[in-house]
Amino acid sequence: MLTKSFQFVKQSVDDLLYLFFPEACVCCGTSLLNQEKILCTTCRFKLPKTNFHKWESNPMEKHFWGRVNFEMAIAYLYFGKETRVQELLHHLKYKGRDDVGTYIGELYGSDLKRDGAVDKIDFIIPVPLHPSRERFRGYNQAYMIGKGISEATGIPIRKDFLYRGVASTTQTKKTRFERWKNVEEIFYTEKTEQWKGKHLLLVDDVMTTGSTLEACSRVLLNNAEVKLSAATIAVAM
Ligand SMILES: [Zn+2]
Repeated sequence: MLTKSFQFVKQSVDDLLYLFFPEACVCCGTSLLNQEKILCTTCRFKLPKTNFHKWESNPMEKHFWGRVNFEMAIAYLYFGKETRVQELLHHLKYKGRDDVGTYIGELYGSDLKRDGAVDKIDFIIPVPLHPSRERFRGYNQAYMIGKGISEATGIPIRKDFLYRGVASTTQTKKTRFERWKNVEEIFYTEKTEQWKGKHLLLVDDVMTTGSTLEACSRVLLNNAEVKLSAATIAVAM
């Protein structure tokens, strides 16, 4: 009896809280309906999907030609300034919303699974953050995305293969070549022999110059006999 009335009180409090502080859509700020999560239905359906995984050879893959040999390089959404996608990533990276990463990863993962795009992938490898930056943020956004993709596809996620050593704080003002050099020096791998022959999907939040993905790939391909693909939530080239 007590439990029942407690549940009743709790439900009433939840309803009241919802009435005064409804959860807002991370993209447009409108109050979410009870069954909606993270995004309102309108924003969810208006996400600018690239569908790169359905292209014969997509612009992201072409970007890496002659630089890294990816089996597949794909992004979920087109990035644009002052758009839904920018809002989404802003919440994920700067507002402590790690749940946005898992959610968007799940959406992407279910598309990829439905279309058979990741059938040959053995493991999901999130691009690591420098440990001090991860402590500061409380999570690695690439890991949260990878976790969502993993939950939707059933492909295991592993963070015991690719590591990040030195923080790259002042990258934004450097030229592309310097950036590349800087990023390249800070990733490393361990126990590479157990990964032989595996097809890994590198996961990151956004691809812009591609220097981070390129640096990770060089470290992985130079140290282990693996096949590599890459997936990001957004692409801005
Ligand atoms: Zn919305």
